[in-house]
Amino acid sequence: MANDILVLADHLRGQLSDTTLELVGKAKELAGATGGQAVVALLGDPGLAGQIAGADAVLTMDHPALADYTPEAWDRALLHIVNERQPRLVLIGNSTIGMDLGAGLSAGWNAPLVAYTVGLAAEGAEIVATAQVYGGKLLAEVVLSGERGICTVVAGSFPAAAGGGSPAAEAVAPPAGLDDLRTSFLTLVEPDSGDVDITAAEILVSVGRGIGSQDNLDDVQELADALGAPLSASRPVTDAGWLPKTRQVGKSGLKVKPKVYLTFGISGAPEHLEGMRDAELIIACNTDANAPIFDVAHYGTTLDLFDLVPAMTETLG
Ligand SMILES: Cc1cc2nc3c(=O)[nH]c(=O)nc-3n(C[C@H](O)[C@H](O)[C@H](O)COP(=O)(O)OP(=O)(O)OC[C@H]3O[C@@H](n4cnc5c(N)ncnc54)[C@H](O)[C@@H]3O)c2cc1C
Repeated sequence: MANDILVLADHLRGQLSDTTLELVGKAKELAGATGGQAVVALLGDPGLAGQIAGADAVLTMDHPALADYTPEAWDRALLHIVNERQPRLVLIGNSTIGMDLGAGLSAGWNAPLVAYTVGLAAEGAEIVATAQVYGGKLLAEVVLSGERGICTVVAGSFPAAAGGGSPAAEAVAPPAGLDDLRTSFLTLVEPDSGDVDITAAEILVSVGRGIGSQDNLDDVQELADALGAPLSASRPVTDAGWLPKTRQVGKSGLKVKPKVYLTFGISGAPEHLEGMRDAELIIACNTDANAPIFDVAHYGTTLDLFDLVPAMTETLG
């Protein structure tokens, strides 16, 4: 209803994303301030409703066309729910799917969209969103003063909802438009999984452009082997083909959360930080004392990586 905050549940193959619970936590906080409820729209997999802890209510919509994501079906389903409930704000994860849906909903519901949101606060009757612009180099504060708004929210921006039991699930009848679609889901093509899964590693040794060339990777690989860790990398390293794309950390790579993230020759651009800033312990080696990686690192050194790496390997050996 008018003051509710609606979260779109993000899920794939029966797996709810972490982002969903992060959005629920923020929705609960905002709804508390605006006098509404935190309501989740769960399209296509009603069985997941029990996992959405912390929300006040879950609206499920089940239909064969929603079982797998297609923009046309999900757009129609979400627009139907939003038109019925008229929430104050809709929160969607800023994933590839979320970016698709956010734009479609903005046009269909005639509501402003704030993409790349990383902060949200209620200030009186207004909701203020902080959003990344220019790939995260600048932050913009956007006031959502009208009756409706949409934010697509960057993963990891808020802590997950604290829990508090499973909310009541209410089934919403699918709109007739779902029986008359021009597109249908064929198959999900997943990338080759022949490589190591860096998102599952407890320690990562990550290399950046400072490594200089592919030949220099051997030294760092030796250190990684001594630590029992896989190598990961910043984008220039994977763009150059020195390591496979499956090792890239960041905005257009993978999000990692290891116990230890050790970086060599990575400057700490916002797009890289987006993928690793939640690591429990960040240790950075960069010859430039002003490199932004030191803003997030717990420990850092300005030693030359070509001196430090062999010395560390020797010490560990
Ligand atoms: C839409 C978009 C998406 C992007 N997605 C990603 C992404 O997913 N992941 C990602 O990483 N980037 C991404 N980028 C690129 C990002 O903006 C940066 O260009 C990139 O992260 C820089 O990589 P780097 O730190 O390795 O290189 P640089 O910024 O060139 O930094 C190299 C660092 O190495 C240090 N160095 C040099 N020699 C030594 C030495 N001998 N010893 C120690 N330190 C040394 C230097 O001081 C420097 O700080 C994206 C950009 C855009 C626009």
